[in-house]
Amino acid sequence: MKSHQDRMARKKAVMDERIAKATEERGVLILLKGNGKGKSSSAFGTMARAVGHGQRAAVIQFIKGRKETGEHKLFREHERIDWHVMGHGFTWETQDKDQDIAAAEKAWALAERYLKDPSYDFLVFDEMAYMFKYKYLALQPVIDALQARPAHQHVMITGRRMPEDLEAIADTISNIMDERHAFRLGVKAQAGIEF
Ligand code: ATP
Ligand code: MG
Repeated sequence: MKSHQDRMARKKAVMDERIAKATEERGVLILLKGNGKGKSSSAFGTMARAVGHGQRAAVIQFIKGRKETGEHKLFREHERIDWHVMGHGFTWETQDKDQDIAAAEKAWALAERYLKDPSYDFLVFDEMAYMFKYKYLALQPVIDALQARPAHQHVMITGRRMPEDLEAIADTISNIMDERHAFRLGVKAQAGIEF
């Protein structure tokens, strides 16, 4: 029988080989999708990681939530973070399609500027996927701009469902599953957890 030590040594050799093969350094496109909790908070957490290392970041929230998030309160004052909250609440509250499209286009115009600016290392487009679901934004110009962005620039996009064509150009895709959510146990949306 193989000892635990032998198995670990073998595992380490395999990992070392994989690490040696991954040599490229460049900006990545990361998509966070799925019905579970943790997409936006993961994007903001990763941004904190990048900014902590001295990188410059911008966040565009394509949908304005009911409540201002703690991350916005914390990060908006940071000298290396630009934070834009676009839109006006949830569609089923506003029910004004023209107004929603205008807001989406305004948010995209801003996003496009950042995608052309090499002085930004890290971009978060929160809830951008929603814009495609409701056809508030055309997908192809977004794909083109993502592909033409500065080579070192990282982009994270969140949203429950991602268009297939966007997935096709992504480097990393995480699907966050909803196994259980406290809301269904009767727990209300709490500061510090939901927003
Ligand atoms: P978070 O902002 O906590 O990272 P998220 O970005 O993954 O969550 P969204 O789909 O943007 O989730 O939903 C917005 C809000 O709804 C969040 O505050 C989140 O906690 C809550 N939420 C997420 N998933 C569920 C769910 N399956 N059931 C009920 N509420 C949810
Ligand atoms: Mg979210």
